[in-house]
Amino acid sequence: MGIKIPTIVMENSGICCEGCRQPISGTPFRVSVLDIIATEVAPSFESASPINPGPFQFCAKPACPSQWMAANGWYFCTQSSVREIMRPVALKTAEGATLGLCDGLHQSNHEFLPA
Ligand SMILES: [Zn+2]
Ligand SMILES: [Zn+2]
Repeated sequence: MGIKIPTIVMENSGICCEGCRQPISGTPFRVSVLDIIATEVAPSFESASPINPGPFQFCAKPACPSQWMAANGWYFCTQSSVREIMRPVALKTAEGATLGLCDGLHQSNHEFLPA
Protein backbone atom coordinates (compact mmCIF):
# COMPACT_ATOMS: atom_id res chain seq x y z
CA MET A 1 0.00 0.00 0.00
CA GLY A 2 2.65 2.47 -1.01
CA ILE A 3 4.93 1.79 1.94
CA LYS A 4 8.40 1.22 0.68
CA ILE A 5 11.06 -0.39 2.74
CA PRO A 6 14.21 1.53 1.96
CA THR A 7 17.03 -0.49 0.65
CA ILE A 8 20.11 -0.67 2.78
CA VAL A 9 22.47 2.04 1.65
CA MET A 10 26.02 1.05 1.13
CA GLU A 11 27.86 3.62 3.18
CA ASN A 12 31.31 2.24 3.46
CA SER A 13 32.83 4.21 0.64
CA GLY A 14 35.60 6.47 1.73
CA ILE A 15 35.03 6.06 5.46
CA CYS A 16 38.22 6.00 7.46
CA CYS A 17 38.61 4.72 10.98
CA GLU A 18 39.05 7.48 13.57
CA GLY A 19 41.62 5.35 15.32
CA CYS A 20 43.98 3.89 12.77
CA ARG A 21 42.89 6.15 9.86
CA GLN A 22 42.59 3.15 7.61
CA PRO A 23 39.65 2.78 5.24
CA ILE A 24 36.90 0.76 6.84
CA SER A 25 35.73 -2.27 4.96
CA GLY A 26 32.33 -3.48 5.98
CA THR A 27 30.06 -1.84 8.50
CA PRO A 28 31.84 0.69 10.71
CA PHE A 29 31.38 0.67 14.44
CA ARG A 30 29.90 4.02 15.37
CA VAL A 31 30.37 5.89 18.61
CA SER A 32 28.37 8.98 19.48
CA VAL A 33 29.33 11.26 22.33
CA LEU A 34 26.55 12.84 24.34
CA ASP A 35 26.64 16.32 25.79
CA ILE A 36 29.01 16.90 28.64
CA ILE A 37 27.39 16.10 31.95
CA ALA A 38 26.84 19.29 33.89
CA THR A 39 29.14 19.73 36.82
CA GLU A 40 29.04 22.18 39.66
CA VAL A 41 31.22 24.48 37.58
CA ALA A 42 29.12 26.62 35.31
CA PRO A 43 30.39 26.41 31.77
CA SER A 44 32.01 29.56 30.49
CA PHE A 45 32.74 30.52 26.95
CA GLU A 46 36.45 30.22 27.56
CA SER A 47 36.40 26.72 28.95
CA ALA A 48 33.63 25.36 26.78
CA SER A 49 35.35 23.24 24.20
CA PRO A 50 32.53 22.16 21.95
CA ILE A 51 32.74 18.43 21.62
CA ASN A 52 31.94 16.92 18.31
CA PRO A 53 29.10 14.51 19.03
CA GLY A 54 30.05 12.30 16.14
CA PRO A 55 29.16 9.69 15.24
CA PHE A 56 32.76 8.61 15.05
CA GLN A 57 33.40 5.55 12.97
CA PHE A 58 35.83 2.79 13.66
CA CYS A 59 37.00 -0.36 12.04
CA ALA A 60 36.69 -3.71 13.75
CA LYS A 61 39.97 -3.45 15.64
CA PRO A 62 39.21 -3.11 19.36
CA ALA A 63 42.21 -0.86 19.93
CA CYS A 64 40.97 1.88 17.65
CA PRO A 65 38.43 3.64 19.90
CA SER A 66 41.00 4.01 22.67
CA GLN A 67 43.56 5.16 20.13
CA TRP A 68 41.08 7.84 19.13
CA MET A 69 40.45 8.85 22.75
CA ALA A 70 44.17 8.98 23.44
CA ALA A 71 44.69 11.20 20.41
CA ASN A 72 42.17 13.61 21.93
CA GLY A 73 43.85 13.42 25.32
CA TRP A 74 40.73 11.88 26.82
CA TYR A 75 40.36 9.39 29.61
CA PHE A 76 38.35 6.22 29.53
CA CYS A 77 36.42 4.73 32.40
CA THR A 78 37.71 1.25 33.12
CA GLN A 79 34.30 0.34 34.54
CA SER A 80 32.70 0.85 31.16
CA SER A 81 32.98 -0.53 27.67
CA VAL A 82 33.21 1.17 24.34
CA ARG A 83 29.62 1.39 23.21
CA GLU A 84 27.68 3.22 20.57
CA ILE A 85 26.70 5.96 23.01
CA MET A 86 29.39 7.36 25.26
CA ARG A 87 28.88 9.92 27.98
CA PRO A 88 31.64 12.43 28.55
CA VAL A 89 32.52 13.49 32.06
CA ALA A 90 34.53 16.64 32.66
CA LEU A 91 37.73 15.76 34.49
CA LYS A 92 40.48 17.74 36.10
CA THR A 93 43.87 16.14 35.83
CA ALA A 94 47.38 17.26 36.61
CA GLU A 95 47.67 18.33 32.99
CA GLY A 96 44.45 20.35 33.11
CA ALA A 97 40.86 19.81 32.16
CA THR A 98 40.01 16.93 29.93
CA LEU A 99 37.17 14.55 29.28
CA GLY A 100 36.57 11.04 30.40
CA LEU A 101 34.32 8.82 28.37
CA CYS A 102 32.09 6.28 30.04
CA ASP A 103 29.13 4.26 28.86
CA GLY A 104 27.28 5.29 32.01
CA LEU A 105 25.96 1.79 32.57
CA HIS A 106 27.76 0.89 35.77
CA GLN A 107 26.65 1.62 39.30
CA SER A 108 30.11 1.94 40.81
CA ASN A 109 32.28 5.02 40.78
CA HIS A 110 34.03 5.98 37.61
CA GLU A 111 37.61 4.85 37.31
CA PHE A 112 39.15 6.99 34.65
CA LEU A 113 42.51 6.15 33.15
CA PRO A 114 44.24 7.77 30.20
CA ALA A 115 43.00 6.00 27.10
ZN1 LIG B 1 40.87 1.28 13.00
ZN1 LIG C 1 32.27 5.16 34.40
